[in-house]
Amino acid sequence: MRYEGDIYRPPSEANSYILQATVGCSWNHCTYCDMYRAKRFRVRDMQEVLEDVAMAGQHLGDRVDKVFVADGDALVMDLDDWTTILEAVKATFPRLRRVSAYATARNLLEKTPEELATLKAQGLDLLYVGPESGDDVTMKRIAKGADHAQHAEAAAKAHAAGMKLSLIFLLGAGGIERSEEHALASARLATAMDPRFLSLLTLTVVPGTPIAKLEERGDFELPDIQGLLREARIFIAEANPTDAIFRTNHASNWLPLAGRLPRDRERFLEALDAALAGDIPLRPSWARGL
Ligand code: SF4
Repeated sequence: MRYEGDIYRPPSEANSYILQATVGCSWNHCTYCDMYRAKRFRVRDMQEVLEDVAMAGQHLGDRVDKVFVADGDALVMDLDDWTTILEAVKATFPRLRRVSAYATARNLLEKTPEELATLKAQGLDLLYVGPESGDDVTMKRIAKGADHAQHAEAAAKAHAAGMKLSLIFLLGAGGIERSEEHALASARLATAMDPRFLSLLTLTVVPGTPIAKLEERGDFELPDIQGLLREARIFIAEANPTDAIFRTNHASNWLPLAGRLPRDRERFLEALDAALAGDIPLRPSWARGL
């Protein structure tokens, strides 16, 4: 398999075949993100992509049941490229049951309802979207590229096409200054976008990113652990999706939780209250990571 640069995928795609159809992120402006800063965005030559699929078919064929299409916002590809890919993976992997990709709200808004319905019919089932916040002030500061209302509209388009969403919100993204507004508005946006999967991660300020420069200048301050736990508590108390598989077990988080929202809300809140009171241990610093 041929890959260009570092490859990122959601934790839930650990056992998937990763097909790199694009290089980098077409947006590449989010102030906290350093994943694709070194990559100039491009769609890979489809002939090369098809060669990769054929190679994976020879080596992995029967073992592949999930394909994740990389890099950072692969939904941006036009319909013809997606059709080429989706037809190839379907023909190559007999046990295929899911194709997924990262997507931005902008990617979704740029596609027509008919294009999204075609992609779903061809096998693109799940999109990972990271609004990171639902607070318009925070979303603008982190240069998310779309606001609360646009994310809600993008989610409605994905749902209308029959696609599932996996959403990521980022504790700490509003800094100390917008902490409560960030948590409350994120919960409102999670409710509005109504995902099948919902995760909270914790912002890690990566050296060299724009947000790190703001932090150095004193223009951004990440909440302390108690503040981050309080954000998680507000989010969980207020978010009301229909039935989302909920996780905070990403390595960046201080308190791993797993279950469903809203079903397990009370259990999560009890755990958070115990953590805030110091009654249960948090993940030690050395065990945390990006
Ligand atoms: S859209 Fe995603 S990959 Fe692109 S810059 Fe923002 S966080 Fe990074």
